[in-house]
Amino acid sequence: MPPNIFYIQDEETCKLKVAKGLQKAEKYAQTLIVGTSKWGRVPILSEALYYTSLIGLKMTETNLNQKLLNLNPDPKKCSRCKICYRLCPVDNIKMEEDEFPNHQLNCVYCLRCVSFCPNKAISCPMNYKGKTYHAVKAKELL
Ligand code: SF4
Ligand code: SF4
Repeated sequence: MPPNIFYIQDEETCKLKVAKGLQKAEKYAQTLIVGTSKWGRVPILSEALYYTSLIGLKMTETNLNQKLLNLNPDPKKCSRCKICYRLCPVDNIKMEEDEFPNHQLNCVYCLRCVSFCPNKAISCPMNYKGKTYHAVKAKELL
């Protein structure tokens, strides 16, 4: 699947990746149906990834990642349009009347708020040159 974080590729590459991902998923689903599916495991690398994910889980439990990568907007750029607040799929953004959006600690890093902010008021240090991938338009989600 095309990533929305770390590195954004051009639209054609993203489309090809989506098509390839869907083909792979369908193929795997077929093997699941007939009971011949296999779950790949690479010695050492699989263990390393397992322990890395445990560390990630611990960070999530302490909310450290949420504190380190807080996506609160730049008040100089934010027009308080509420698009981010309305689009957040997990209600992580609180917004009182006449206040700026206030990100809580339950972010799932979908980056919708970053991608769809019309003023680019929310910066994400992990985005490649500030680029984001849009599969849909904001109005299709609102
Ligand atoms: S979408 Fe952008 S401009 Fe609109 S309220 Fe959110 S941060 Fe502010
Ligand atoms: S990244 Fe996604 S989950 Fe996190 S605050 Fe923005 S819209 Fe909500």
